[in-house]
Amino acid sequence: MEKKLLKEVFGYDEFNPPQGEAIRSILKRRDTLVVMPTGSGKSLCYQIPSLIFEGTTVVISPLISLMKDQMDQMRALGIEARTLNSSLSPEEYNENLDMVLSKKVKLLYLAPETALKWQLIEVLSGVKIECIAVDEAHCISEWGHDFRPEYRQLGEYRANFPDAVCAAFTATATPRVRADIVERLAFKNGAEFIASFNRTNLFYEVVQKSDPYRQVLEFLEDYRGESGIIYCFSRKEVDRLSDYLVRNGFSAGPYHAGLDDDTRRINQDLFARDDIKIMVATIAFGMGIHKTNVRFVFHYDLPKSIESYYQETGRAGRDGLPAKCRLLYGPGDAVKIRYFINQIPDEIRRVSANHHLGALSAYAETTGCRRHPLLSHFGEEHGSENCGMCDNCVNPPVEESDFTVQAQKFLSCMKRTGESFGYSHIIDILRGSESQKILERNHHRLSTYNIGGELTKKQWMALGRRMSIKGLIVQDLDSFGALKITQKGYSVMKGDERFLSAPLAEGNQERRPRAAAVYDAKLFDLLRAKRKALADGEGVPPYVVFSDKSLADMATYFPLSRESLLDVHGVGKNKLERYGEEFLAIIRDYCLEKNIREKPRPPKIRMKADGEYRHQEVGRAYNEGMAIDGLMDRFGVMRQTILSNLYRYYLEGGMLRADGFEPLMVLPENTKNALFQAFEEIGADRMKQVFDILGGEVSYDDIALYRLAFLAGRDRERKAESV
Ligand code: ADP
Ligand code: ZN
Repeated sequence: MEKKLLKEVFGYDEFNPPQGEAIRSILKRRDTLVVMPTGSGKSLCYQIPSLIFEGTTVVISPLISLMKDQMDQMRALGIEARTLNSSLSPEEYNENLDMVLSKKVKLLYLAPETALKWQLIEVLSGVKIECIAVDEAHCISEWGHDFRPEYRQLGEYRANFPDAVCAAFTATATPRVRADIVERLAFKNGAEFIASFNRTNLFYEVVQKSDPYRQVLEFLEDYRGESGIIYCFSRKEVDRLSDYLVRNGFSAGPYHAGLDDDTRRINQDLFARDDIKIMVATIAFGMGIHKTNVRFVFHYDLPKSIESYYQETGRAGRDGLPAKCRLLYGPGDAVKIRYFINQIPDEIRRVSANHHLGALSAYAETTGCRRHPLLSHFGEEHGSENCGMCDNCVNPPVEESDFTVQAQKFLSCMKRTGESFGYSHIIDILRGSESQKILERNHHRLSTYNIGGELTKKQWMALGRRMSIKGLIVQDLDSFGALKITQKGYSVMKGDERFLSAPLAEGNQERRPRAAAVYDAKLFDLLRAKRKALADGEGVPPYVVFSDKSLADMATYFPLSRESLLDVHGVGKNKLERYGEEFLAIIRDYCLEKNIREKPRPPKIRMKADGEYRHQEVGRAYNEGMAIDGLMDRFGVMRQTILSNLYRYYLEGGMLRADGFEPLMVLPENTKNALFQAFEEIGADRMKQVFDILGGEVSYDDIALYRLAFLAGRDRERKAESV
């Protein structure tokens, strides 16, 4: 049933794990917590049940802009969704209320403060409320990053509808917040489903910050006409950069908390509708962006923490197509922030801020896969395999070479000209240019004149920038960009220190490692223009009509009939009726003109029947008494795989018998105690921290084993207590 709705209404072929299980759990009326990263499809987990339930599903959502967006999307799919909130006119309010009372509404979106009004509770008690879906459920917890006091009362709220199942959704996975949600919402016999936090379509990269404005422009060159977000630290920088981009012919706009409400709303709207392509913003720009075709998130400054970096970059690529996350990183940034941190009077906050900064620097400076530090922060292990979607995996860092001699040439040339010139002039001297500026100043008589022929101008430029990044020189912006030698520069000049750097490129080597577009770009543009026209006509953002992914799919397979259009990602019955003919007409004309035929789709690779995953089979077999060794044989996998299957089974609400792990637990008793204590105190999902606390002496394999024993044992104790 749910699979059929997925295809017919939403136009999708497969559930994204753990959508299927979460939906089945809600349908069985088990209170359910779903933790999935932004953009992975949490909403679907209550939307599909709402279509199956006879009564109404109440969706609690913190922002009116979020609700509006969802309702637009539901309408485009032909699902009856309404809201009752303060932004409606009295007529609209009454119309919506009538619809609710006549039991036609499947999804009723409410802000918590509206939901809690007793008049409304009374009215709704006459309607069959079958499910209460709490969106952004981390708002309930003071431990979350976005606590909202109104959310606190939702536990009592649900008591008004004793027959309704409760489902909670969040993208914040810390164990403390999870426990808080379950407790506050008074889950009975609850189930939890946690998705992987790995966003496989995002390309992560870090670039040394040297000449940031130029770096932004160069980056944007590759993304002409596409949407993206640039995050800056300060409001002032947002305004400046946004102006600068507009002056350079880009479609950009600012967003930060210093702008008035109207300007903010308008800019956000323009962005949602593709009328502004680039949003330059502070972190105030975040929640409420449901735009799916954000192709890049560019961090001009260092974010606040790994967690915020993950959230902010998570806004890219929600349609599943490749998107890029670039962080500009200058070691100077970390120094600057550390300086501010050290001013914080409160010790706990200071320590925590330093901890965040340390984690970020580790991310920025790693030479391994970027996914590793990112995911381990969420307690998720990412194997050491090459992810193929980060700078270090695609372009493994190269050995550094010794550029001490070149740096010395550069520095002495600066010294001899009184440290009063910028890059160009120094390089001109080194390369023996006969420019007027040189001749006039007699710089062709210097001993450093014409001693740098071994590098091109561009290479010298790159080297100069690297010297600046590594702190050998600084640019004095007050005196026309003159370069000055630092303490460190003097050590290199005197030969006390060496200057190492990656080899210099011959030409411009920065490539764009973007998944090759296999679709027909011309047709894509035609379809995109059509989409924009339709969306503007209906006053909704373009992605409500079709996502980029749907258009790309059309421009790949050229569907010419209604049946084959239905095979397109995101095309369900309702959208077919609504928009099908107009898009088909464009595709048909295009194919006729170019003499292109419809392309057959490759056969689908199916998941196991019923969406059953191996971890469930493993969990069941284990509980039926099979030993870990036996399971390894039966499934033909390694012990580690069995353990991670069991962990996943547990995370999804399965119980595990405790005695199956004992035969394998051979570490000394005090190590075991230390492990259990660590799990208790910092949470069983923090593998890396537990590993660190034990001084790296216990292997990850053993930690995984003891963790399962710990969890199984603890559950047994709890059960015993509650009997
Ligand atoms: P979240 O609430 O988790 O941030 P959404 O629920 O807004 O994410 O979903 C993001 C996008 O992914 C939406 O366009 C949605 O229609 C799409 N989506 C959801 N589930 C699937 C699926 N199983 N297959 C393909 N696309 C999906
Ligand atoms: Zn990688």
